[in-house]
Amino acid sequence: MCTGRVSFTRTAPAYNARSFSACRDVATMPSIHLADGRRVPYRVRVSPRSRRVRLTLNPRDGLVMVTPPGVDRRQLAELAHEWRDWVARQLDALGIDDAADAATASVSLPDCIVLAGIEEQWHVLHRHTPGVSARVLVRDERSLVLGGAAGDLSERVAALRRWLMRRARDTLPPRLEALAAETGLDFGSVTIRAQRNRWGSCSAHGDINLNYQLLFLPPPLLRHVLLHELCHTVELNHSPRFWATVRRFEPDLDARRAEMRRSWTHVPDWLAAAP
Ligand SMILES: [Zn+2]
Repeated sequence: MCTGRVSFTRTAPAYNARSFSACRDVATMPSIHLADGRRVPYRVRVSPRSRRVRLTLNPRDGLVMVTPPGVDRRQLAELAHEWRDWVARQLDALGIDDAADAATASVSLPDCIVLAGIEEQWHVLHRHTPGVSARVLVRDERSLVLGGAAGDLSERVAALRRWLMRRARDTLPPRLEALAAETGLDFGSVTIRAQRNRWGSCSAHGDINLNYQLLFLPPPLLRHVLLHELCHTVELNHSPRFWATVRRFEPDLDARRAEMRRSWTHVPDWLAAAP
């Protein structure tokens, strides 16, 4: 990690817990993720006279990364990560763990996304890349890189939502087709949508819409919703005949319907709260 002339040290500033003030424009700042889940924002200051990267913590400025010109932000983020235990110790020693939390209370983007319905778990690596619109890159089969300006929270949520829509388009239609084959219930087309209040719908032509947030439901509930919509291709209503059709393929129907009453609680807060 240490390259060229740049060497890395950290300073041991004089602390004063009482006068520590969190930065107001915290939402636009990069941050250090501590092992215990805390997220501590830091400011980057480029100093032409500086020969090395330093991390300082003081009452007036909070946490500041001082760097010579030409060190890229990704390197700084990696250094911040390496120094996280030191940061945790200093904050704990000062008893100001809440300062960082309070300052970033509105920041609750996920570090991990669990797609229970399709039994996948994705780690989210947060990158602060100013000047680039928020986007999700798939780094490997189980991790995502979320880039863009750190302050654009709604943009970052929107980028994650677009990725979820893609994931839903790739994974939900094949499951619907498999269930159609299993039950012998035929459907027209399938479309993935971002609906707020319904998990799915079926038209008179047998075309099915599925909500991308189905990805978050436990597999039995995901199957239940797919089956429900497939059964609408033969009974376009919620009559006793419709439920009898569903029950033919789902003996545990009553339990599923009871679980469905709480189904929206499976959607994570960071997504449900987003505009
Ligand atoms: Zn229905």
